[in-house]
Amino acid sequence: MRAEGIAKRISFAAAALLSALGAHAQAQTQIDPKLTEVWEPVPRVVTPGRGSEAPSDALVLFAGKDLSQWESIKGGPVKWTIADAAFTVARGTGDIRSKRAFGDCQLHIEWRAPAEVAGEGQERGNSGVFLQGRYEVQVLDSYNNATYLNGQAASIYKQYIPLVNASRKPGEWQTYDIFFRAPRFSEDGTVDQPAYITIVHNGVLVQDHVQIKGSTVNRGPPSYAKHDAKEPLVLQDHDTPVSYRNIWIREL
Ligand code: MG
Repeated sequence: MRAEGIAKRISFAAAALLSALGAHAQAQTQIDPKLTEVWEPVPRVVTPGRGSEAPSDALVLFAGKDLSQWESIKGGPVKWTIADAAFTVARGTGDIRSKRAFGDCQLHIEWRAPAEVAGEGQERGNSGVFLQGRYEVQVLDSYNNATYLNGQAASIYKQYIPLVNASRKPGEWQTYDIFFRAPRFSEDGTVDQPAYITIVHNGVLVQDHVQIKGSTVNRGPPSYAKHDAKEPLVLQDHDTPVSYRNIWIREL
């Protein structure tokens, strides 16, 4: 008897629940769908690029001809070489930086490790894209080239291993699409909000909104040091003739 009573009570509760759900569904159909339509603010129109073209609202940092948007980190003009709509690290001439500074941004950059394989590990096709001159997205020939994993291509150098190795063969062009949220600092220099980065390597997600731990360093743990909201982009001369082309940036 007792078990029967409980069963009855359960079936009564189930019926009440179903009836409530039915009433809810009925109420839903009575809500005007227009009430949840959003009509403003209207997104700005951006004409997307075709092929390797930049979107209409991007700042083109290199389109194949000149390095007028760049300067040597040592000051003065860039000494890297331009040929075939690309430019190549001239070993020993030093890093280069964009003349303009950037904060939050979307960056498209194409790079190529030398076709002729020379050296191994970190000596093979090494360069780097430094967001705000500090936070390095590693450029390395990581096609069948073992090295420490947080130093391979598309790693956040010495901080994050890429989710997968999407590297193309040496001598082939590769793309990075980088989505960067710059860090925010308070007046006293403490970090209000660390930097975040997402990277797509050759169309493959390799860094998924990871929290940057501080300025890139080779030795020891990284840490933040307060800097301006906008800082130049830096490309690394790491003594290997890595090439770049089609660079554009959208400020977010
Ligand atoms: Mg590097």
